[in-house]
Amino acid sequence: MCGIVGYIGNQQACPILLDGMSKLEYRGYDSAGIAVYDGKRIDIEKCVGRLQALRIKIQGHEPQGTVGIGHTRWATHGRPSDRNAHPHCDESGRFVVVHNGIIENYLELKEYLLEKGHRFSSDTDTEVVAHLMADQYDGDFLSTVKKVIRRIDGSYSLVFLCADEPDKLITTKKDNPLVIGLGEGENFIASDIPAIIGHTRRTYIMSDGEIAIVTKDAVRVEDL
Ligand code: GLU
Repeated sequence: MCGIVGYIGNQQACPILLDGMSKLEYRGYDSAGIAVYDGKRIDIEKCVGRLQALRIKIQGHEPQGTVGIGHTRWATHGRPSDRNAHPHCDESGRFVVVHNGIIENYLELKEYLLEKGHRFSSDTDTEVVAHLMADQYDGDFLSTVKKVIRRIDGSYSLVFLCADEPDKLITTKKDNPLVIGLGEGENFIASDIPAIIGHTRRTYIMSDGEIAIVTKDAVRVEDL
């Protein structure tokens, strides 16, 4: 269970993400976090506990920006803690990801990445995805996500944010729910409709094997 949300548009992302996450509270969770691109870098704020704990943590210095992702975690790999909360990123902070599900082959991928010198800052299965993005990066966000998806096994809804291409979110899923909300000059991503219904009634339900490139003015869905 637990949930993910994404926003790209002209409004401040932070309040929209927090509101969407609150609508997913029924799914249950042990920690929460958001990542927002602030015009220069991706600002990540996260902590163990309920959404209120995150709200208090960021009060007065909410991340500013109009594109971001949020996550409510139900731990499967790594105990509930600040460092294991999502979003996760690579060491450069260029690639940020939120994930629901389980990366079944994460140990094998982690071993490969550790050998290549990547340093991990959590105990989650998810963090391998962010480092794998950095490892596979060919200068193109979408093609790198596609390469990474081919290397991971398991169940997932994933949303990616890249500091080099902050005009888009990329999202894909397998065996976990994911819905896109279509707005005017803004678009939304969520695990479930309640998180976006306050913004739009036009939705696209993602199917396994699809990848969506979401900008503020368009949503393009491709087969993987
Ligand atoms: N497996 C991931 C973790 O333990 C994601 C769990 C979830 O779906 O929230 O961090």
